[in-house]
Amino acid sequence: MSKKSNTRCSFCGRSDRDVNLLLTGLDACICDECLRQGMLVLNEHQGSATVQNAAVAETPLPKPMDIKAHLDQYVIGQDEAKRTLAVAVYNHYKRLRQKVEDDGVELEKSNIIMVGSTGTGKTLLARTIAKMLDVPFTIVDATVFTEAGYVGEDVESILSRLLQAADYNVAAAERGIVFIDEIDKVARKGDNPSITRDVSGEGVQQALLKLLEGSSVNVPPKGGRKHPDQDYVKLDTSNILFICGGAFDGIERKIAQRLNTHVVGYNSVQNVKRIDQKDMMKYIQPQDLKSFGLIPELIGRLPVLTHLDPLDRKALRSILTEPKNSLIRQQKKLFKMDGIELSFEEDALDYIVDKAMEFKLGARGLRSIVEDVMQEAQFDAPSSDKTKLVITKEYIMDRLARSERLAS
Ligand code: ADP
Repeated sequence: MSKKSNTRCSFCGRSDRDVNLLLTGLDACICDECLRQGMLVLNEHQGSATVQNAAVAETPLPKPMDIKAHLDQYVIGQDEAKRTLAVAVYNHYKRLRQKVEDDGVELEKSNIIMVGSTGTGKTLLARTIAKMLDVPFTIVDATVFTEAGYVGEDVESILSRLLQAADYNVAAAERGIVFIDEIDKVARKGDNPSITRDVSGEGVQQALLKLLEGSSVNVPPKGGRKHPDQDYVKLDTSNILFICGGAFDGIERKIAQRLNTHVVGYNSVQNVKRIDQKDMMKYIQPQDLKSFGLIPELIGRLPVLTHLDPLDRKALRSILTEPKNSLIRQQKKLFKMDGIELSFEEDALDYIVDKAMEFKLGARGLRSIVEDVMQEAQFDAPSSDKTKLVITKEYIMDRLARSERLAS
């Protein structure tokens, strides 16, 4: 109940005239500001974990098929990766809800590693899932981390970012999702363990192990480097889902080598025929990651391995227009806000795809082309009285010919 007499908050001493709301109890009062502070403290303590657990347990879990159907709205193709992710995420959340029972069965955590060329949708998949589940989510780039004692960020700052994404709510961060991009860049060079530890590679992999396996980690709330007189927040990583992604350029050769050595012998001829040389990625196995330079301990902590297919013409064409948030839909929306109805002729879209295939940057190529082509129109549109704009193939060819950036 609020009361407007000359009472004061028993915590901060402010009078009811200085606050928005003052709740009065039997012998004490509390103002809205102190209540808010109290909530923050509560969140940071385990008590809030219980509250969260109750909330999580109540909301129905999306089933793998629901997760996949949701992903289908935003991500084209990549069926195998979608299915694998859907199951892994579903299991992860089941694990969060498991009750302590005396049957001795404890569901273990299954972090994920996704392998696929750049611009094929790895980040998009992780981001779409996190949005759907409404949990704190952060993307970090493995290349910025170094082994403790060297220039660069400590791996613990991954968790700082997750904490920030969770508005410093520890309990929420402890059930969040972290996407570590470019994990292939911390591979050690060559298959042999190095005599001297290499700063950016193996050391970082070692440091990641602790985070991935589930332990209590001291996290510098603001990220960056750790230093002795800093305050730390303790974060338990056992329930944080880690999804790693990387292009692993050249891993096809390792896969081919493995397949070749295995096919000598009895039914080798049939096996060789059955191998799809154009898409070796689909045969990827954990030992190929080892050959590439990931340490076995790290591979062991990323038990779910999945791959993304290279995007062919058809896929790129669909990506342009089909996803809910497709590039073309975004452009149309931008122009609509200026009162202009934007449309693209079919052969214009095909031409964009042709160019993107040339760039070999996956769907990333589409974006740079569309941005470049539309820039001038975006500049003119707000000041023009046009109500319609039709983009033709000739228009795109003309714009691209003028664009120095994309011409080379
Ligand atoms: P990666 O992480 O594999 O390098 P991203 O997920 O960051 O690639 O993709 C880059 C951009 O390309 C995304 O923002 C998205 O718009 C688009 N994209 C990539 N792959 C797909 C896909 N399979 N379906 C829809 N859009 C995609």
